[in-house]
Amino acid sequence: MKVSCPGVSPEISDGAARAAELIRSAGTVIALTGAGASTESGIPDFRGRNGLWSRFDPLEYGTIGAFRRDPVKVWKMFAELLAVTDAEPNAGHHALAAMEAMGCLYGIITQNIDGLHQKAGSRSVVEFHGSLATFSCGRCRTALLLAEVRTRPLPPLCSCGAVLKPDVVFFDEAIPTDALHQTEKLIATADVLIVAGTSCQVAPASTIPLRVRRRGGRIIEVNLAPALGPLADITLAGGFGATMSCLLARLREK
Ligand SMILES: [Zn+2]
Repeated sequence: MKVSCPGVSPEISDGAARAAELIRSAGTVIALTGAGASTESGIPDFRGRNGLWSRFDPLEYGTIGAFRRDPVKVWKMFAELLAVTDAEPNAGHHALAAMEAMGCLYGIITQNIDGLHQKAGSRSVVEFHGSLATFSCGRCRTALLLAEVRTRPLPPLCSCGAVLKPDVVFFDEAIPTDALHQTEKLIATADVLIVAGTSCQVAPASTIPLRVRRRGGRIIEVNLAPALGPLADITLAGGFGATMSCLLARLREK
């Protein structure tokens, strides 16, 4: 008889065993993550009650038009956003990185901009909404790394004098072409999709589970408050860290 995973209910423990079976029998497994993956690292959901967008009006701070009109003002929001780059990955990030290293996970599509998957050691990560790792100048196209930007007073200026912008996707901007192409490739090969820490309400990332399902893929949902309903083949209604750790433990069992 299998021992129960610590910190999760017997239901999740059993569900993780079934999920591990599904993953073992699958050819290609990918994951889609969102804000719920980072809350245990101390980053509140930007759309939640204490989130960034409850304090900064998205129309005034979250559009490329707002940035072009008044970049200094929008940097009040970015200055707060930069704090997420100090966060550390949690057990869930580490479990996904370990799954990749074991050959059980082909790639991650994340809606997060915090870089925590990469910090945990994941190598194949598509950042659907951009990231805070790099900054660009809209005037002369100079690109800078976060470490360089952090040595400058805020708002950071390019050598040409323009205000730099982190390479995150504003509400009114298109998903970066590279990220879209890589996502298409992942969807086209996925036999199993693990949806973790995202209620899949923001398009176009929200369409990914349905698209995987339509081409015959199976879905494993890991959400404290499950949102996919019958779209998910296996639903693990638990926190990201404990549930992903349990899934990893089940994958390591013979
Ligand atoms: Zn410049």
